Parts: sequence; C-alpha cells; structure tokens
Amino acid sequence: MSAKIRLYVEHPLGAGQSIPLEKDQAHYLFGVMRQPLGGHVALFNGTDGEWQAEITEAGKRGGTLTCVAQSKPLQMPPDLWLIFAPIKKARTDFIVEKAAEMGAARILPVGTEYTNSERIRQDRLQAHAVEAAEQCGGTYVPEVCDLQKLSRLLDHWPVERQLMFCDEGEVGQRRFLDAAQEGGAKQGATATPWAILIGPEGGFSDKERKRLHAMQQAHVVSLGPRILRADTAAVAALTLWQQRLGDW
Ligand code: SAM
Repeated sequence: MSAKIRLYVEHPLGAGQSIPLEKDQAHYLFGVMRQPLGGHVALFNGTDGEWQAEITEAGKRGGTLTCVAQSKPLQMPPDLWLIFAPIKKARTDFIVEKAAEMGAARILPVGTEYTNSERIRQDRLQAHAVEAAEQCGGTYVPEVCDLQKLSRLLDHWPVERQLMFCDEGEVGQRRFLDAAQEGGAKQGATATPWAILIGPEGGFSDKERKRLHAMQQAHVVSLGPRILRADTAAVAALTLWQQRLGDW
C-alpha cells in the first residue's frame, strides 16, 4: 500500500495516531480527489517522516485519517540557506518553489539597496514551499522567513556559515569549484553550513559588494559568462552547490 496523494499536516504522526482534517483538506480529499472511506493518503509534517494513513472518517467539512505505518524516515536537507532579493510575484514564487524542491533548508528573502519589491506575503510563500514538498516527495519543509534587510542579516552573520556570493560583477571570473574547495578546506567538511546569495534585478550596490567581499566567509562566484535573471541564477547556484557539496 503506497498512497499517491501526499498531504502536509501540522500534527504529530505515529502508529495509530488520528489526524483531524481541516475543511480545505477535506474538500480536497473528498470533493476534488474523490477519495473513499478506507482510502490511503501519505502524510508528512516536516519532523516525523512520511506515514501511510487510512481515511477513517469522511465528511464535507472535515474527516479523520489514521496513521498505519511509516513509509519514509525524515530526510533532512543539507544545512543550506537560499538568500534572495524578491523580484516580481510569479518569479519570487518560482524561486521559493524551486528552492524547496532542490533541497534548501531555509529560504530568506532580503531587501537590498536595489531590491524591486519591498513587500512579500510570507504566509503565501510558505504555502508554496509546502506544496513543493508535497509534490516532490520531500519529508521536510524549508522555513520561509519574513523579509529582512540584507545589511541586518550580515550584521548577525553566523561565524561558521560559508557564503556563496553570486556576483554578476565577476562574470566568467570565478568558478564555484574553486570557492567550494576554499570553503570546504577552511572548515574541513561537507557538513559545513552554507548560504547562497542572489541579488535583485538591479544587482548589488558598490557598498553591498564591498561589504560582502570583505567577509571572510564569503566566496565570490561567477555563474558563467552571461548575466542570468535572478530566478535562473537561484536555480543554477542551487544546482552547482548541491552537485558539489550537497545530497545529490
Ligand atoms: N542588473 C545586473 C547587471 O545587469 O549587472 C544583473 C543582476 S542579475 C539579473 C540578478 C542576480 O543574479 C545577481 O545579483 C547575481 O546574484 C545573480 N547572477 C546573475 N548572473 C550571474 C553571473 N553570471 N554570475 C554570478 N551571479 C549572477
């Protein structure tokens, strides 16, 4: 028995555990997906792995699922943050969705000097991360943080966290391979926490670039000889990092 439908629930999961369904989940399962009593659904909550559950009560406004057996243990992604400056809504949604699919542990939108968008809907972006995890078979959902200023984030930067600073000013100059070796050599392990930083459409200001270049944890990286859009750059950087240092 392996259910095709996967749902994220905010409830502990374990053998025999009953999970009450919220109205929209009941609507989705019984109204949209036409699941019968006794049908099976895969559940995950970001901490207890994936569980196969049986539909034991079904109604229009609610229902109950009962956990039967664990089908996957919790698989934590590597300790990788994706930091990016929000762009247009659809492209920001894309970045969050892809970061969740590709195995970022935390997603941090930041305001930079040339950031296009001053506001984000954190709850909406978090819901995109949940949907991405539901679809890609992940058992973990990355936290999407509220928008904060890049300068403030750098003020409190954790000493041990290495930073893959994707700088369009370095076009064609510095490959991630070299940066990864340098970062890995400093810390001596692939378990080193890392972050990727992608700038806004307008790029980084001179002041930001100067500050980032001066950070001992920052490794300036070029993503090739062409300037990529921020959403493309996020996917490219996540791919490079995962392939070299991550869990791919
Ligand atoms: N307005 C900038 C310019 O024309 O120079 C381009 C900014 S780009 C659209 C958005 C972000 O993607 C950059 O700040 C950088 O983080 C990343 N990026 C894009 N292409 C890159 C490249 N070839 N190398 C490194 N980073 C790149």
